[in-house]
Amino acid sequence: MTTVAAYAAPAAKAPLERTTIERRAVGEFDVLIDIKFAGICHSDIHQAREGWGEAIFPMVPGHEIAGVVSEVGSGVTKFQVGDRVGVGCMVDSCRECENCLRGEEQYCLKGMVGTYNAVGKDGQPTYGGYSEKIVVDENYVLRIPDGLSLDVAAPLLCAGITTYSPLNHWNAGPGKKVAVVGLGGLGHMAVKIAHAMGAEVTVLSQSLRKKDDGLKLGADHYHATSDPKTFEELAGTFDLIVSTVSAPMDFGALLSLLRVDGALVNVGAPEEPIALNLFSVIGGRKTLAGSMIGGIRETQEMLDFCAEHGIGAEIELISAAEVNEAYERVLASDVRYRFVIDTATI
Ligand SMILES: [Zn+2]
Ligand SMILES: [Zn+2]
Repeated sequence: MTTVAAYAAPAAKAPLERTTIERRAVGEFDVLIDIKFAGICHSDIHQAREGWGEAIFPMVPGHEIAGVVSEVGSGVTKFQVGDRVGVGCMVDSCRECENCLRGEEQYCLKGMVGTYNAVGKDGQPTYGGYSEKIVVDENYVLRIPDGLSLDVAAPLLCAGITTYSPLNHWNAGPGKKVAVVGLGGLGHMAVKIAHAMGAEVTVLSQSLRKKDDGLKLGADHYHATSDPKTFEELAGTFDLIVSTVSAPMDFGALLSLLRVDGALVNVGAPEEPIALNLFSVIGGRKTLAGSMIGGIRETQEMLDFCAEHGIGAEIELISAAEVNEAYERVLASDVRYRFVIDTATI
Protein backbone atom coordinates (compact mmCIF):
# COMPACT_ATOMS: atom_id res chain seq x y z
CA MET A 1 0.00 0.00 0.00
CA THR A 2 1.08 3.55 -0.69
CA THR A 3 -0.20 6.63 1.09
CA VAL A 4 -0.95 9.48 -1.29
CA ALA A 5 -2.35 12.98 -0.88
CA ALA A 6 -5.81 13.63 -2.24
CA TYR A 7 -8.77 16.00 -2.15
CA ALA A 8 -11.85 14.34 -0.73
CA ALA A 9 -15.42 15.11 0.29
CA PRO A 10 -15.64 13.74 3.87
CA ALA A 11 -19.44 13.53 3.70
CA ALA A 12 -22.31 14.36 1.35
CA LYS A 13 -22.49 18.07 0.57
CA ALA A 14 -19.39 18.81 2.70
CA PRO A 15 -16.65 20.89 1.06
CA LEU A 16 -13.70 18.94 -0.32
CA GLU A 17 -10.52 19.06 1.76
CA ARG A 18 -6.97 17.79 1.58
CA THR A 19 -6.45 14.34 3.06
CA THR A 20 -4.51 11.15 2.43
CA ILE A 21 -5.71 7.83 1.01
CA GLU A 22 -4.18 4.40 0.54
CA ARG A 23 -3.52 3.02 -2.93
CA ARG A 24 -3.15 -0.74 -3.32
CA ALA A 25 0.28 -2.25 -3.99
CA VAL A 26 1.03 -2.57 -7.70
CA GLY A 27 -0.25 -6.03 -8.71
CA GLU A 28 0.91 -8.25 -11.57
CA PHE A 29 -1.23 -6.49 -14.19
CA ASP A 30 -1.35 -3.05 -12.57
CA VAL A 31 0.08 0.26 -13.63
CA LEU A 32 1.01 2.97 -11.12
CA ILE A 33 0.28 6.40 -12.56
CA ASP A 34 1.64 9.73 -11.34
CA ILE A 35 -1.42 11.87 -11.94
CA LYS A 36 -0.60 15.24 -13.51
CA PHE A 37 -4.06 16.62 -14.26
CA ALA A 38 -7.64 15.78 -13.31
CA GLY A 39 -10.69 17.32 -14.98
CA ILE A 40 -13.78 18.34 -13.02
CA CYS A 41 -16.88 16.70 -14.47
CA HIS A 42 -20.40 17.79 -13.53
CA SER A 43 -21.01 14.23 -12.34
CA ASP A 44 -18.28 14.68 -9.71
CA ILE A 45 -20.54 17.27 -8.12
CA HIS A 46 -23.70 15.16 -8.45
CA GLN A 47 -21.97 12.30 -6.67
CA ALA A 48 -20.14 14.31 -4.00
CA ARG A 49 -23.50 15.87 -3.09
CA GLU A 50 -25.46 12.60 -3.36
CA GLY A 51 -27.61 14.05 -6.13
CA TRP A 52 -27.68 10.59 -7.73
CA GLY A 53 -28.41 8.65 -4.55
CA GLU A 54 -26.41 7.24 -1.67
CA ALA A 55 -22.65 7.50 -2.15
CA ILE A 56 -19.46 6.24 -0.50
CA PHE A 57 -17.51 8.65 1.75
CA PRO A 58 -14.88 9.89 2.03
CA MET A 59 -15.08 10.43 -1.73
CA VAL A 60 -12.16 11.38 -3.96
CA PRO A 61 -13.87 12.36 -7.21
CA GLY A 62 -12.22 12.60 -10.61
CA HIS A 63 -12.60 10.43 -13.70
CA GLU A 64 -10.76 12.58 -16.22
CA ILE A 65 -7.23 11.58 -15.35
CA ALA A 66 -4.02 12.23 -17.28
CA GLY A 67 -0.56 11.30 -16.04
CA VAL A 68 2.63 9.34 -16.52
CA VAL A 69 3.35 5.69 -15.70
CA SER A 70 5.84 5.39 -12.84
CA GLU A 71 5.75 1.64 -12.16
CA VAL A 72 4.34 -1.47 -13.84
CA GLY A 73 3.53 -4.95 -12.54
CA SER A 74 5.51 -7.99 -13.74
CA GLY A 75 2.72 -9.11 -16.10
CA VAL A 76 2.05 -5.75 -17.74
CA THR A 77 2.62 -5.79 -21.50
CA LYS A 78 0.85 -2.66 -22.77
CA PHE A 79 2.68 0.07 -20.85
CA GLN A 80 6.15 1.05 -19.72
CA VAL A 81 7.48 3.50 -17.15
CA GLY A 82 7.37 6.98 -18.67
CA ASP A 83 4.33 6.38 -20.89
CA ARG A 84 1.71 9.16 -21.04
CA VAL A 85 -1.61 7.68 -20.05
CA GLY A 86 -5.18 8.41 -19.08
CA VAL A 87 -7.94 6.86 -17.01
CA GLY A 88 -11.61 7.59 -17.56
CA CYS A 89 -14.84 6.64 -15.82
CA MET A 90 -14.14 2.95 -15.20
CA VAL A 91 -11.26 0.93 -13.77
CA ASP A 92 -12.66 -2.59 -14.14
CA SER A 93 -15.60 -4.71 -15.34
CA CYS A 94 -16.48 -8.42 -15.35
CA ARG A 95 -14.55 -9.06 -18.63
CA GLU A 96 -16.82 -12.04 -19.38
CA CYS A 97 -20.27 -10.80 -20.35
CA GLU A 98 -21.27 -10.22 -23.95
CA ASN A 99 -20.79 -6.46 -23.65
CA CYS A 100 -17.33 -6.74 -22.09
CA LEU A 101 -16.33 -9.29 -24.71
CA ARG A 102 -17.24 -6.96 -27.54
CA GLY A 103 -15.38 -4.04 -25.98
CA GLU A 104 -18.34 -2.20 -24.53
CA GLU A 105 -17.26 -2.54 -20.93
CA GLN A 106 -19.25 0.56 -19.98
CA TYR A 107 -22.37 -1.55 -20.44
CA CYS A 108 -21.00 -4.55 -18.47
CA LEU A 109 -23.97 -6.69 -17.43
CA LYS A 110 -22.53 -7.02 -13.93
CA GLY A 111 -21.84 -3.28 -13.76
CA MET A 112 -18.56 -1.56 -14.56
CA VAL A 113 -16.38 -0.57 -11.61
CA GLY A 114 -16.40 3.22 -11.44
CA THR A 115 -13.13 5.07 -11.01
CA TYR A 116 -14.51 6.45 -7.74
CA ASN A 117 -17.61 6.04 -5.57
CA ALA A 118 -17.56 2.32 -6.33
CA VAL A 119 -16.19 -0.88 -4.80
CA GLY A 120 -13.33 -2.62 -6.61
CA LYS A 121 -12.91 -6.37 -7.04
CA ASP A 122 -10.68 -6.30 -3.94
CA GLY A 123 -13.67 -5.14 -1.90
CA GLN A 124 -12.12 -1.72 -1.29
CA PRO A 125 -13.69 1.59 -2.28
CA THR A 126 -12.27 3.19 -5.41
CA TYR A 127 -10.84 6.71 -5.27
CA GLY A 128 -10.57 9.00 -8.26
CA GLY A 129 -8.25 11.49 -9.85
CA TYR A 130 -8.10 14.37 -7.38
CA SER A 131 -4.98 12.71 -5.99
CA GLU A 132 -1.26 12.29 -6.60
CA LYS A 133 -1.25 8.69 -7.82
CA ILE A 134 -3.58 5.89 -8.85
CA VAL A 135 -3.14 2.14 -9.42
CA VAL A 136 -5.18 0.72 -12.31
CA ASP A 137 -5.27 -2.59 -14.19
CA GLU A 138 -3.56 -2.07 -17.54
CA ASN A 139 -6.67 -3.13 -19.46
CA TYR A 140 -8.49 0.00 -18.27
CA VAL A 141 -5.66 2.45 -18.98
CA LEU A 142 -5.53 4.54 -22.17
CA ARG A 143 -2.52 5.81 -24.08
CA ILE A 144 -2.39 9.57 -24.60
CA PRO A 145 -0.72 10.28 -27.97
CA ASP A 146 2.34 12.58 -27.98
CA GLY A 147 0.50 15.25 -29.95
CA LEU A 148 -1.86 15.95 -27.04
CA SER A 149 -0.87 17.97 -23.98
CA LEU A 150 -1.86 16.16 -20.81
CA ASP A 151 -3.84 19.10 -19.38
CA VAL A 152 -6.19 19.46 -22.37
CA ALA A 153 -6.30 15.68 -22.82
CA ALA A 154 -7.66 14.98 -19.31
CA PRO A 155 -11.27 16.04 -20.06
CA LEU A 156 -11.30 13.83 -23.16
CA LEU A 157 -11.45 10.81 -20.85
CA CYS A 158 -15.07 11.62 -19.94
CA ALA A 159 -16.37 14.64 -21.87
CA GLY A 160 -14.52 13.58 -25.03
CA ILE A 161 -15.63 9.96 -25.15
CA THR A 162 -19.16 10.76 -23.96
CA THR A 163 -19.68 12.86 -27.08
CA TYR A 164 -17.42 10.95 -29.51
CA SER A 165 -19.22 7.65 -28.96
CA PRO A 166 -22.73 8.73 -30.08
CA LEU A 167 -21.30 10.84 -32.94
CA ASN A 168 -19.39 7.78 -34.08
CA HIS A 169 -22.24 5.31 -33.52
CA TRP A 170 -24.81 7.44 -35.38
CA ASN A 171 -22.34 8.17 -38.20
CA ALA A 172 -21.73 11.90 -37.95
CA GLY A 173 -19.67 12.84 -40.97
CA PRO A 174 -19.68 14.59 -44.34
CA GLY A 175 -23.20 15.29 -45.61
CA LYS A 176 -24.73 14.90 -42.14
CA LYS A 177 -26.41 17.70 -40.23
CA VAL A 178 -25.67 17.42 -36.53
CA ALA A 179 -27.06 19.60 -33.75
CA VAL A 180 -25.48 19.87 -30.32
CA VAL A 181 -27.77 20.98 -27.51
CA GLY A 182 -25.92 22.93 -24.82
CA LEU A 183 -22.45 24.42 -25.07
CA GLY A 184 -20.82 23.40 -21.80
CA GLY A 185 -18.11 20.88 -20.93
CA LEU A 186 -19.73 18.13 -23.01
CA GLY A 187 -21.22 20.35 -25.70
CA HIS A 188 -18.00 22.11 -26.59
CA MET A 189 -16.32 18.74 -27.14
CA ALA A 190 -19.26 17.54 -29.24
CA VAL A 191 -18.90 20.60 -31.48
CA LYS A 192 -15.16 20.13 -31.96
CA ILE A 193 -15.44 16.40 -32.64
CA ALA A 194 -18.47 16.58 -34.96
CA HIS A 195 -16.76 19.34 -36.93
CA ALA A 196 -13.57 17.27 -37.23
CA MET A 197 -15.66 14.31 -38.42
CA GLY A 198 -16.85 16.51 -41.29
CA ALA A 199 -20.46 17.07 -40.25
CA GLU A 200 -22.34 20.36 -40.61
CA VAL A 201 -22.69 21.43 -36.98
CA THR A 202 -25.38 23.56 -35.35
CA VAL A 203 -25.35 24.61 -31.70
CA LEU A 204 -28.72 24.88 -29.98
CA SER A 205 -28.16 26.87 -26.82
CA GLN A 206 -30.56 28.63 -24.50
CA SER A 207 -29.25 32.04 -25.57
CA LEU A 208 -26.78 33.48 -28.06
CA ARG A 209 -24.40 34.42 -25.23
CA LYS A 210 -21.66 31.99 -26.34
CA LYS A 211 -22.27 32.30 -30.09
CA ASP A 212 -18.80 33.65 -30.93
CA ASP A 213 -17.18 30.83 -28.97
CA GLY A 214 -19.38 28.22 -30.63
CA LEU A 215 -18.45 29.36 -34.11
CA LYS A 216 -14.75 29.43 -33.16
CA LEU A 217 -15.00 25.89 -31.81
CA GLY A 218 -16.22 24.68 -35.20
CA ALA A 219 -19.99 25.21 -35.34
CA ASP A 220 -21.44 26.32 -38.68
CA HIS A 221 -24.65 27.68 -37.18
CA TYR A 222 -25.84 28.80 -33.76
CA HIS A 223 -29.44 29.20 -32.61
CA ALA A 224 -31.17 30.08 -29.35
CA THR A 225 -33.72 27.57 -28.06
CA SER A 226 -35.41 30.40 -26.15
CA ASP A 227 -36.45 31.86 -29.51
CA PRO A 228 -39.59 30.09 -30.87
CA LYS A 229 -38.50 31.00 -34.42
CA THR A 230 -35.61 28.53 -34.05
CA PHE A 231 -38.09 25.65 -33.99
CA GLU A 232 -40.03 26.93 -37.01
CA GLU A 233 -36.92 27.56 -39.04
CA LEU A 234 -35.14 24.28 -38.25
CA ALA A 235 -38.09 21.84 -38.30
CA GLY A 236 -37.12 18.53 -39.95
CA THR A 237 -33.46 19.56 -40.41
CA PHE A 238 -31.12 17.26 -38.50
CA ASP A 239 -29.87 13.72 -38.97
CA LEU A 240 -28.59 13.64 -35.41
CA ILE A 241 -29.10 15.73 -32.31
CA VAL A 242 -26.81 15.16 -29.33
CA SER A 243 -28.27 16.66 -26.18
CA THR A 244 -25.74 17.39 -23.45
CA VAL A 245 -28.19 19.17 -21.17
CA SER A 246 -29.38 17.80 -17.84
CA ALA A 247 -32.00 20.48 -17.20
CA PRO A 248 -35.63 19.64 -18.05
CA MET A 249 -36.36 20.27 -21.75
CA ASP A 250 -39.15 20.04 -24.29
CA PHE A 251 -38.16 16.76 -25.94
CA GLY A 252 -41.11 16.89 -28.31
CA ALA A 253 -39.85 20.20 -29.67
CA LEU A 254 -36.33 18.82 -30.12
CA LEU A 255 -37.64 15.71 -31.90
CA SER A 256 -39.51 17.99 -34.32
CA LEU A 257 -36.13 19.20 -35.56
CA LEU A 258 -35.15 15.73 -36.81
CA ARG A 259 -35.46 14.46 -40.36
CA VAL A 260 -37.11 11.12 -41.08
CA ASP A 261 -34.95 8.40 -39.44
CA GLY A 262 -33.11 11.00 -37.39
CA ALA A 263 -31.96 10.33 -33.83
CA LEU A 264 -32.02 12.42 -30.67
CA VAL A 265 -29.33 11.05 -28.37
CA ASN A 266 -29.13 12.11 -24.76
CA VAL A 267 -25.84 12.11 -22.92
CA GLY A 268 -27.20 14.37 -20.21
CA ALA A 269 -30.29 13.38 -18.25
CA PRO A 270 -32.78 15.48 -16.32
CA GLU A 271 -33.25 14.14 -12.78
CA GLU A 272 -37.04 13.92 -13.19
CA PRO A 273 -38.79 11.52 -15.60
CA ILE A 274 -40.14 13.13 -18.75
CA ALA A 275 -43.63 13.06 -20.25
CA LEU A 276 -43.52 12.64 -24.02
CA ASN A 277 -46.20 12.31 -26.67
CA LEU A 278 -44.96 9.31 -28.67
CA PHE A 279 -46.32 10.77 -31.88
CA SER A 280 -43.10 12.82 -31.69
CA VAL A 281 -41.18 9.69 -32.72
CA ILE A 282 -43.87 7.81 -34.65
CA GLY A 283 -44.17 10.53 -37.26
CA GLY A 284 -40.84 10.37 -39.06
CA ARG A 285 -39.66 7.00 -37.70
CA LYS A 286 -37.43 8.83 -35.25
CA THR A 287 -35.17 7.45 -32.56
CA LEU A 288 -34.95 8.76 -29.01
CA ALA A 289 -31.79 7.27 -27.56
CA GLY A 290 -29.15 7.54 -24.87
CA SER A 291 -25.44 6.86 -24.72
CA MET A 292 -22.96 6.49 -21.85
CA ILE A 293 -19.21 7.13 -22.24
CA GLY A 294 -17.58 4.47 -24.48
CA GLY A 295 -15.63 1.22 -24.22
CA ILE A 296 -11.88 1.07 -23.75
CA ARG A 297 -11.18 0.37 -27.42
CA GLU A 298 -13.40 3.24 -28.55
CA THR A 299 -11.89 5.57 -25.95
CA GLN A 300 -8.43 4.86 -27.38
CA GLU A 301 -9.80 5.46 -30.89
CA MET A 302 -11.19 8.82 -29.68
CA LEU A 303 -7.84 9.87 -28.18
CA ASP A 304 -6.04 8.96 -31.41
CA PHE A 305 -8.68 10.85 -33.44
CA CYS A 306 -8.34 13.93 -31.23
CA ALA A 307 -4.53 13.88 -31.50
CA GLU A 308 -4.75 13.52 -35.28
CA HIS A 309 -7.12 16.51 -35.50
CA GLY A 310 -5.39 18.62 -32.84
CA ILE A 311 -8.40 18.54 -30.55
CA GLY A 312 -8.12 19.11 -26.82
CA ALA A 313 -10.61 20.51 -24.33
CA GLU A 314 -10.82 24.24 -23.64
CA ILE A 315 -9.74 24.41 -20.03
CA GLU A 316 -9.27 26.64 -17.00
CA LEU A 317 -6.36 25.23 -15.02
CA ILE A 318 -6.81 25.55 -11.25
CA SER A 319 -5.02 24.53 -8.07
CA ALA A 320 -6.54 21.85 -5.85
CA ALA A 321 -7.41 24.44 -3.20
CA GLU A 322 -9.76 26.10 -5.69
CA VAL A 323 -11.90 23.00 -6.21
CA ASN A 324 -14.84 24.04 -4.01
CA GLU A 325 -15.07 27.40 -5.73
CA ALA A 326 -14.83 25.64 -9.08
CA TYR A 327 -17.80 23.42 -8.14
CA GLU A 328 -19.93 26.50 -7.51
CA ARG A 329 -18.87 27.96 -10.84
CA VAL A 330 -19.71 24.73 -12.70
CA LEU A 331 -23.18 24.79 -11.13
CA ALA A 332 -23.55 28.40 -12.30
CA SER A 333 -22.37 27.42 -15.84
CA ASP A 334 -19.49 29.82 -15.31
CA VAL A 335 -16.64 27.87 -16.87
CA ARG A 336 -15.15 27.89 -20.35
CA TYR A 337 -15.27 24.97 -20.70
CA ARG A 338 -13.70 22.56 -18.26
CA PHE A 339 -11.87 23.06 -14.98
CA VAL A 340 -8.73 20.96 -14.74
CA ILE A 341 -6.87 20.53 -11.46
CA ASP A 342 -3.10 20.72 -11.56
CA THR A 343 -2.51 17.80 -9.19
CA ALA A 344 1.00 19.05 -8.33
CA THR A 345 -0.85 21.51 -6.07
CA ILE A 346 -2.44 18.76 -3.95
ZN1 LIG B 1 -17.71 12.62 -16.26
ZN1 LIG C 1 -19.05 -7.49 -18.21
